[in-house]
Amino acid sequence: MQQLAPYAAHEDRSRGRRHAEPPPRYRSEYQRDRDRIVHSTAFRRLEYKTQVFVNHEGDLFRTRLTHSIEVAQIGRSIARALRLNEDLTEAIALAHDLGHTPFGHAGQDALNQCMKDYGGFEHNLQSLRVVDTIEEKYADFEGLNLTFETREGILKHCSPRHARQLGELGRRFLDHQQPSLEAQLANLADEIAYNNHDIDDGIRARLIHIEQLEDLELFRQHHQAVRGQYPRLGERRAVHEIVRRMINQLVCDLIETSRRRLQDCAPTSIEQVRQQKHMLIGFSEQVAQGNQQLKRFLRENLYSHYRVYRMSNKAKRIIRDLFNAFMDDIRLLPREHAERARRAERQQGEAGRARIVSDYIAGMTDRYAITEHQRLFEPLRLT
Ligand code: MG
Repeated sequence: MQQLAPYAAHEDRSRGRRHAEPPPRYRSEYQRDRDRIVHSTAFRRLEYKTQVFVNHEGDLFRTRLTHSIEVAQIGRSIARALRLNEDLTEAIALAHDLGHTPFGHAGQDALNQCMKDYGGFEHNLQSLRVVDTIEEKYADFEGLNLTFETREGILKHCSPRHARQLGELGRRFLDHQQPSLEAQLANLADEIAYNNHDIDDGIRARLIHIEQLEDLELFRQHHQAVRGQYPRLGERRAVHEIVRRMINQLVCDLIETSRRRLQDCAPTSIEQVRQQKHMLIGFSEQVAQGNQQLKRFLRENLYSHYRVYRMSNKAKRIIRDLFNAFMDDIRLLPREHAERARRAERQQGEAGRARIVSDYIAGMTDRYAITEHQRLFEPLRLT
């Protein structure tokens, strides 16, 4: 294995775990984090959670599980090229979506709205809550007891109010510091993955078309090259070939631009990376613009497509109905969650109860939320 760069996350200089544990015998600390994430319940649920398309719409669309694997793959390639810590990058990538509600952004917006008087709901904070407290797997502690660096990478953004409650982990949002380079690149690997796979899925679902995509700089240039080289290629293969080339261009540009910035700035430790005014991992000006154009296109043409909007609207109603029903009467919750809600209510009042209801809903998969809604509201469904 090649040597890590001085500015990478080195596990012997880790800020450690919240509960001290003996070091692993045959793995690195960050491999252990990754393994704990892979064995968590929340990770398995990603298989039935979606971002844009709802789970039952088809078997070929990305789910949050396949998305997370794509992010890990892209992230590791970048980490290796820049001599950053691959194990840490992988752990962050696999954990980054653990706190997502069912039904993607629509679900998150609805739950945030329901929770507005109780501290709100934010998927990033929820991912942290999953790994810090919700997972119950170990005899000695709550949560997965991950290292500081993995937790830092999971918490991509955070309001000052929440940051103040998070102690050491929240401090960088108050002091305007940067996270590790591994966290920075996992975040951009996430963007590269979803922008490109949403194009692929959007075309497959016939919500967007190749002709529309011609307006996009990044797409047009590869489309023309592929058409010139393979004039008789069928549409599906052409789309795959174009998307593959787009991902490659973004990844290469990210590696080359970041490498140049790292050479110029030459940080000698992760602490120096954290002290920087700006992130050191990033795209070149031109590719960043192309990437912005792509995001805008998806927002205007895919995420707000009327068929997606109809589904989002239904999804929001399901989340609201579930939340209101459980808040009105916690006896409707499965026993273990009701117990937890009562305990939280004794300690923190109504906000405590709301938080447990929100945890229960956020943990649901798309199909579980739909079934639970039927169980609660359809008179003919008794179990
Ligand atoms: Mg993601």
